[in-house]
Amino acid sequence: MKLVVFGAGYVGLVSGTGLAELGHEVRIVDIDPERVRRLNDGVIPIYEPGLADLIRRNARAGRIDFAVEVGADFADASVFFICVGTPPRADGSADISAVLSAADAIALTAKAPALVAVKSTVPVGTCDTVERRLAGAKVDLEVVSNPEFLKEGAAVSDFFRPDRIVLGANSERARNLLRELYAPLQLSGERLVITDRRSSELTKYAANTMLAMRVSFMNELSRLCHATGADIHSVRLGVGADTRIGRRFLYAGPGYGGSCFPKDVQALIHLGREKGVPMRLAEATHEANREQFDFVGRLVLDHLGVLTTDKVVALWGLAFKPETDDIRDSPALAIAEFLLGHGIGVVGHDPEAGANFARALPHPSLRIVDREYEAAAGADALVLLTEWRSYRAPNFSELKRRMRGDLIIDARNVWRPAEVLRAGLRYQGVGVTGSSATANS
Ligand code: NAD
Repeated sequence: MKLVVFGAGYVGLVSGTGLAELGHEVRIVDIDPERVRRLNDGVIPIYEPGLADLIRRNARAGRIDFAVEVGADFADASVFFICVGTPPRADGSADISAVLSAADAIALTAKAPALVAVKSTVPVGTCDTVERRLAGAKVDLEVVSNPEFLKEGAAVSDFFRPDRIVLGANSERARNLLRELYAPLQLSGERLVITDRRSSELTKYAANTMLAMRVSFMNELSRLCHATGADIHSVRLGVGADTRIGRRFLYAGPGYGGSCFPKDVQALIHLGREKGVPMRLAEATHEANREQFDFVGRLVLDHLGVLTTDKVVALWGLAFKPETDDIRDSPALAIAEFLLGHGIGVVGHDPEAGANFARALPHPSLRIVDREYEAAAGADALVLLTEWRSYRAPNFSELKRRMRGDLIIDARNVWRPAEVLRAGLRYQGVGVTGSSATANS
């Protein structure tokens, strides 16, 4: 099939390239001409494991290219996917203007009946709005909701092995076409959840908010652990052993971030308010997340002592999670701002996200370095914020040698406290008390 994908971001690049890999002819359209030019030169603008090779291979095979417009040769595409950003507005609502611009471009260019599949995360009713925008087209264009569930850092494998593919479609024709398109991804069993467009749109917000809620609840419990002397590891194991709850997504940490959870939780809150159905749990989830950023910042301050002038803190991990260069709403941004606001110098390291971080938070007291041990040199404390594999087994003696101070804050609870203590450093995890830190090791 001939397919057009609007948006050369995380979702558009992964979905478009995945579809090309399945044998389709794909054009990815983006309004950013520089991004398009670089992509056509083989320069991939984001870090996502496995993606660069996949793009280059499919480009060489002539199955994928990049353009700023659909072009006459793709005007008869079978499906137009909309994968553009839907960032939050100041009031938390989703800004769907890019989705509507893409719809306008499709209405102007489509020369054959086609489906318009909205993969962007959009508020309930957006597909109806898109349908109205397409009313002026010269051909029949049917809108379907097909929200994306990929996880950054594992997006390519998520594309080829999705847990589910949600489709909100009004007609049998649309359902059949998409069933055919996604058939190669379902060889081992049916993964399609077929529903109406509004339920499909809401499913995406519901899934992200449910996940965010688990994280926020565990984070609140981690704070209660600090206050009571309980240990979050034990609580997690005991709670997760219940099969109704499950073990995944129960890790306390510095708070959730990224381009999806914070914005989607807020968009759900906004939608609830607009419809007179307050989303109390989503509101609490959002609030608890902000409190967790502060909690980790305070943990650093409390352990550093009252005098924060001339102190330097090293941050390991700036991306919102491992295996991505995405720093949008990363806890590291909030925590670095908190520390800088208290007059503390910050030196950051991340295997992929350093440049994005420096661009997002320009500050005279913030330095980004290329090597992790360089970040620790002369630091009074080291805070682990993202659990990249390369941070999993550090040489603590080397850290002790390089650091000025001796404080290790393990905001991801991945290090063995005894090892840290053995190197002559102090250890503080999240929801792990000092005494249990030693006992647990
Ligand atoms: P992104 O910011 O990485 O990429 C969006 C791209 O769209 C940009 O390159 C931008 O230049 C382009 N664009 C904007 N307006 C355009 C237009 N009118 N025509 C063509 N291109 C246009 O965004 P993303 O992270 O890929 O997310 C896209 C959507 O998918 C959002 O709604 C997001 O919530 C959702 N989503 C994201 C993820 C994720 O992990 N990133 C996962 C699931 C769903």
